[in-house]
Amino acid sequence: MKLRVDEISAEAREIAFFEQEDEINRVLGAGPIRDYTVQGPISVTVSHYRAGTEVFLEGDLSARTAAVCARCAEEFVASSTRSFRYVLAPKVLDDSTGGDQRDEDVEYSHYGGDEIDLSPSIREQLLLALPTIPLCAEDCRGLCPRCGANLNLGACGCVIVQPNLGLAVLHSLKIRRA
Ligand SMILES: [Zn+2]
Ligand SMILES: [Zn+2]
Repeated sequence: MKLRVDEISAEAREIAFFEQEDEINRVLGAGPIRDYTVQGPISVTVSHYRAGTEVFLEGDLSARTAAVCARCAEEFVASSTRSFRYVLAPKVLDDSTGGDQRDEDVEYSHYGGDEIDLSPSIREQLLLALPTIPLCAEDCRGLCPRCGANLNLGACGCVIVQPNLGLAVLHSLKIRRA
């Protein structure tokens, strides 16, 4: 999605659109960044306005993502959402975005020419929305280390004795017998 700079006014305007997922899936598939696949277009809402030469963007995105759970190895689909804010200054006025007044929640960037391409920012924000370790559920029980059964489906019946605990029990038995 591209915005024409001369069509951005001082009054905030909101646009909603879908960003195609092909490019982000290419990035996700190429690098070691995250083991996710985006399913279907990314839904984006962006409100934008201009103050002088700076352009302010405030938006939300959501996408359906598929990943393999790091604990139980099952594929799961989740929805990823993220809010973002950008302040863009034209490239020629590079120094103007420096200084100490930076807001932690705002990304600072630049635009060149008379168009602002939102696509790279949307891809960046969606990557940030993805947890580093994909989990199908916060409390996923994972796989049994002995038989490999998915413990989310029920107990497998394996008795797993912690080696140190076992020794401690033996030790205490010996003391009791003596
Ligand atoms: Zn899981
Ligand atoms: Zn087991």
